[in-house]
Amino acid sequence: MELSKYVGRTPRDYEGETTVERVASHRRWDVDVERRGDCSHCGAELELRERHLLVTLTGRSGNDGERHYLCGQSCLDEWFTG
Ligand SMILES: [Zn+2]
Repeated sequence: MELSKYVGRTPRDYEGETTVERVASHRRWDVDVERRGDCSHCGAELELRERHLLVTLTGRSGNDGERHYLCGQSCLDEWFTG
């Protein structure tokens, strides 16, 4: 599925007013900064220098601009469907 198809959908743990604003295949290039994140679905630790998915949410209730890292598309799918 195209990443753009996830835009406008609501992750399963969120209210319906919170939707995906943007999904991007992402990697950080600032190699001198050691940055890690946790996958919002499976909790795996991600090395942000490696390719991963970055999801930005939009919503009215404090979720606006919230950023989530996900391992890849299978975790992204399960983040929506459970
Ligand atoms: Zn994951």
